[in-house]
Amino acid sequence: MEQFDAIIVGSGLAGLTAAVELCDRGKSVLVLEKEKVIGGRTSSWDEDGMLVESGFHRHIGYYKALPYILKKVGINVDSLVQWEENVDVRIKGKRDVATFGVSPIFGPIDLLKGVLGNNEILSLKDKLSLMRFFMSGFIDYLSKPHILDQWNVRDYAKKHHVSEDALHYAVIPLSAGIFFLPPERYSAKVFFGLFFPAIPRFYRMRIGAYLGGMTELLARPIAHYIEGKKGIIQTNAKVHNLIVESTGVRGVILEDGSRYEAKHVILAADLGGAKKILKKNFSSHPLFQSLFQLPTMPAVTIQMEFLKPVLPYDRTTFGPLTSLASFAEQSRSTFTHVPGRLSIILTPPEKFLVMEKEEILKQVQMEAKELGLDLETNLTNYRIVSRSEDFYSLEPNHDRLRPNQRTDISGLILAGDYTKQPYYATMEGAVVSGLKAASIILN
Ligand SMILES: Cc1cc2nc3c(=O)[nH]c(=O)nc-3n(C[C@H](O)[C@H](O)[C@H](O)COP(=O)(O)OP(=O)(O)OC[C@H]3O[C@@H](n4cnc5c(N)ncnc54)[C@H](O)[C@@H]3O)c2cc1C
Repeated sequence: MEQFDAIIVGSGLAGLTAAVELCDRGKSVLVLEKEKVIGGRTSSWDEDGMLVESGFHRHIGYYKALPYILKKVGINVDSLVQWEENVDVRIKGKRDVATFGVSPIFGPIDLLKGVLGNNEILSLKDKLSLMRFFMSGFIDYLSKPHILDQWNVRDYAKKHHVSEDALHYAVIPLSAGIFFLPPERYSAKVFFGLFFPAIPRFYRMRIGAYLGGMTELLARPIAHYIEGKKGIIQTNAKVHNLIVESTGVRGVILEDGSRYEAKHVILAADLGGAKKILKKNFSSHPLFQSLFQLPTMPAVTIQMEFLKPVLPYDRTTFGPLTSLASFAEQSRSTFTHVPGRLSIILTPPEKFLVMEKEEILKQVQMEAKELGLDLETNLTNYRIVSRSEDFYSLEPNHDRLRPNQRTDISGLILAGDYTKQPYYATMEGAVVSGLKAASIILN
């Protein structure tokens, strides 16, 4: 039986990154992916005749590791994305739209207009309360991150006298709008930690909308590079168990019974998948008890096609106080083959996980009306993309449960956005975890 230097379970960004690094250093690599498309949460596919993706993604200008990997495989980020310098917040019941600039260098006037303007929704007092809230948050993030993780965002905002308006129109878009959790369930550590890396790299801050489906744009070119270096990628290959010997982990067994051996196995599955595999051999191993306690959380999106665009431009938009956590028109960026396309991430995801598709559509159309959007008239097609265990839970007190990539079991390494790295559940976090996993083998 052929022995690989490394078997990587999962072809998300974490697994693909580890594979690139290992192939580059001449290691023989086999990547096993249970789905029929590669890319994991950064994938896109044809769902009964409609192109869909795991959910709309934004490339944040301060990311460093993801551009590094893309550059290695010959891609310049600027050719992948359409940059935005603003985000919109739609105000429930008022049909107003507040615009906030996010880029001090590429859109300084818009940034100033956002901070000094929008007075109809945020008074000077609200803005000052937000400044205090962010200052304290960043200081606590640096000085006592473990304590910050015990706070939820709503209570932390209350403690710093953030007004209800400021909570609704600034804090909720930045919490529920990004990780779909209402502020009372969102860890304050994650909230501030997500923005923290932007501070030293403020000059790069912009938001990029991808110019195509994610498998095509990200995963496939990376896979092509891996295969060019003699790495092997197999889809429809679900890993059922690890081969564990007295010396440690020595390979994997697929669902169809086939066995592959390797010096190292990088388990780069999502948290739910990783737990299932680890529990088979290591259910009582002390090293994994925290990981087993780390809960997963779902993600639900609705992706809709229209006869014409719903919004005048493709820009990240938030719908605080509704189920439409964040959404974007994508007909001029990601999915240009249709005249109108809206992708919406729903909050709270658990509520939508158990609803029928038609029920979700009706609920979304009704709530969209309150944001001044007509999602009925020109609708031609829609799909719900929902996954029950998409993320590790970003609720308070969970950060401490995230495992390191290094395990004390010979031959077994973990990777994935849920493992310890400073970028939480993001593409950047996944890539950083993949780099760390590969460096354990290479060093
Ligand atoms: C709706 C949505 C919106 C998002 N928006 C953004 C955004 O705007 N910006 C951003 O930076 N990030 C965003 N993210 C997060 C980002 O997509 C993830 O953090 C990142 O892609 C995770 O990569 P990963 O490799 O850690 O995990 P995954 O991509 O989940 O990869 C794990 C892989 O392992 C495979 N697998 C699992 N079990 C097995 C098994 N037994 N055998 C073989 N294979 C297995 C899975 O099929 C999967 O392909 C978003 C995610 C979602 C869902």
